[in-house]
Parts: sequence; structure tokens; C-alpha cells
Amino acid sequence: MEKDIIILGIESSCDDTSAAVIRNGVLLSNVIASQKVHEEYGGVVPELASRAHQQNIVPVVDTALRRAGVDRKDLSAIAFTRGPGLLGSLLVGVSFAKGLALSLGVPMVEVNHLQGHVLAHFVREGSKGSNSSYLREAPDDRQSRAKDSIPLCPVGTCLRNSMRATGSQSQFQIDPQAAGNCFTPTLGEESKKEVPEFPFLCLLVSGGNSQIVLVKAYNDMEIIGQTIDDAAGEAFDKCAKVLGLPYPGGPWIDRLAKQGNPEAFVFAKPQVSGYNYSFSGLKTSFLYTLRDLMIAHGVNTVDELAEQMPNLREDLCASLQKTVVEILMKQLRRAAKEYKINTVAVAGGVSANSGLRAAFEDYGKRYRAKVFIPPFSFTTDNAAMIAEAGYWKYQDGDFCPIDAVPYAKTRI
Ligand code: ADP
Ligand code: MG
Repeated sequence: MEKDIIILGIESSCDDTSAAVIRNGVLLSNVIASQKVHEEYGGVVPELASRAHQQNIVPVVDTALRRAGVDRKDLSAIAFTRGPGLLGSLLVGVSFAKGLALSLGVPMVEVNHLQGHVLAHFVREGSKGSNSSYLREAPDDRQSRAKDSIPLCPVGTCLRNSMRATGSQSQFQIDPQAAGNCFTPTLGEESKKEVPEFPFLCLLVSGGNSQIVLVKAYNDMEIIGQTIDDAAGEAFDKCAKVLGLPYPGGPWIDRLAKQGNPEAFVFAKPQVSGYNYSFSGLKTSFLYTLRDLMIAHGVNTVDELAEQMPNLREDLCASLQKTVVEILMKQLRRAAKEYKINTVAVAGGVSANSGLRAAFEDYGKRYRAKVFIPPFSFTTDNAAMIAEAGYWKYQDGDFCPIDAVPYAKTRI
């Protein structure tokens, strides 16, 4: 009998500590501890992120193994995110992976975080249902966050619910009910789900990246277009900040956009070569629109302006979201046409955006294309995608040396 291939994946590139276990290509567990400490700073604070990773990594890995019912001695390899990301954050995951791999005498597999996002489309969940769970944070962190209970996107809602304070002494506990709420009801079908056929184009949109990736095989990808300045998620977050919305602003924009008029405002669209993107001009256009409105209404703050224009925030969000989605889809369509590729996928945190998801569905109908939109649980950072990428690299015998160091920036 062939030996099982059991991969432990570790993700710590930004502000989510995550561990996942995949056995023979099927996800057994995926545990994510999200760091809410950054909210009050309006962005991720690298030093706080790496400290929180240090605090989270042991219980997160332990929980992932327990939930998977896997003894660490049975692991075939440790897959970890080597980059790109915040160096201090990556260092925690990389060091932990090295220690564990050395102690178990198993190989390490390095994974490019962006490649992981693309391969999230291939994660197959077990027939028992959702294998993902979110951990409650340490009591200190929970205290400061209990006040803020407005639900965000499904992932955000899930995180918040799953972190609700219970008075328990235990630092980390899974709240399966809350975690379970944010997944599609057809999870039992996941193990049989349809996956993209190679080659396909993947629009990778997150807080730090906006790229069109030509995916030729699991381990063969080429970036054919990318942002020349800001990422789409960054544009959402910065515009949200201008409106006084909390960080990360993307889910808030999405939520408010549902009640706004997408035609209310017209923002500048970039003219960039090839299949590249640019979002810094849109950010400026958004800012100037707001500034001009404030001057015209003789006010000094967005709140004062909103008193005079009751649907201001909603309309701005709807118009911004429409513009971002149009920019993203236009280049993707061009690339698909010129590469003659009829299968497109979307990945990364911004793929949780309802406007973008709707645009993908519309694209599928209009161009009779096969479109792949990830479940919400795999849009933002998670270790399931890292374990998945590790699973394919493991089969290629693509291991990494023990002296591998993390990298902040790279291409696929
Ligand atoms: P990175 O790995 O680059 O840090 P993630 O893949 O974790 O980024 O995605 C985070 C980004 O996704 C943030 O910019 C956040 O605002 C954005 N985001 C999450 N949900 C939504 C949404 N519903 N609409 C728009 N943007 C969103
Ligand atoms: Mg990411």
C-alpha cells in the first residue's frame, strides 16, 4: 500500500497566522487566527504582527493537527510561505517550519504566497464538510475589539463572531458554529468539485497585489500583467480611510456600495500598457472629488458633508467599487482574448468583493467562459492554499534547504 502524503501548511506572511493539513490532496483542517490589533492603527503594524504570530503559531499548528486527527510523526513534509510578505511575520512561520521539519526529519517545501492564492482553487475539502476554523484571540486582544461588532463581509462576520468573548480562560478556542456559518452549504460536494483546467488566467487581487497570472500548471505560472503602483485592495483600503471607515476598508466599501448609486460619481480610469494595472490615479480622483464637494458645500469634514448629502458614503463606495471592477475586468478580458483562453479565475482578498464576484459571473455568461470564484473561506490568507501548493511541489520532489530565508518581494 502506498504511503499517505500528509502536508502541514503554515502561513504567516501578513496578519493571519494559519496552519492546515492536507492528506492525499484532501483538506483535513485549516485553522486561522486573525490579528485584530491593527484595526486601531488603520493598517498592519509589522512589529505587532510578528509578535502576534509568535504568540499564535504553536496553538494554531497544534489545533490544525488535532482537528485533522494527524500525529505530527506522520507528516510527510512541512510547507510554509517563504514570501512575499512582511519579513518579521514570515520569519516566525519560516523558523517554526524549520524547527519542526528538523525535529521530525521531514523535508521542507517553500511556497510562494501568490502561487498559493492561485492554487486555492484546487483545495478539496473532505466530504464531512467545512474543515476551516477561526480561533478566538488572546483575551487582551478580545477586550479592545468587543466594542466593534458591525458585521463586515462574510469572512469578516465570521471572524468577529468566532472571536466573541466568552469568559473562558483558555487562550484559543475554536468556535465551530461561528466558523461554520461562513462557508457554502454544499461543502460535502467540495471533494468532487470542478477545478480549472490548464492553461487558465487568474486575476490575483489582494491588499498587496493586482496581477493577471497565466497558469500553465500547478508549478508553472507567469505574471503577464500587474499593477505599476497600488494594488486594488490598497485602493479600497485608502479610499475607505478617507471616508473615516475602519481598516481594512475593502469589506466596508463592499457593504456600503450595496446601498449606493454606482453612477453617482465618475472617477478617472488609468491608461496603462499591456495587461498592467494602476490604481493610484483613481485614489487621487476619489480624494479630489471629495475635496471639491467639501469646498462646494463649505464644510471641512466628511461627516459635515454627509449631513448635507445623506447618501454620500454609499454613493461614493458604489461608484468606487464599480470603477475598480471595470478596470480589473477590462484588462482581464483583453488578456483572455489575446491569449485565447476561455477559463478565468479570481483569487486573493479582493475576490471576496460582491461586485467583482458578480462581474465574474457576468463574464462567464457573456463570453461563455468557465469562471472560478473561490469560496469566501479561501479568499483571504489561509494555510490551506499553502498546504495545497506544498502538496504539488512535494510530488515534484521540490524541497528547500534548511537555510532558506524569507523574502519580502518576488514574482511568481
Ligand atoms: P494580502 O495577502 O496582500 O495582505 P489579502 O489576500 O489578505 O491581502 O487581502 C486583503 C485585502 O482584501 C484588503 O485590502 C481588504 O480590504 C480586501 N478585501 C477583503 N474583502 C473585501 C471585499 N469584500 N471587498 C473589497 N476588498 C476586500
Ligand atoms: Mg494574501
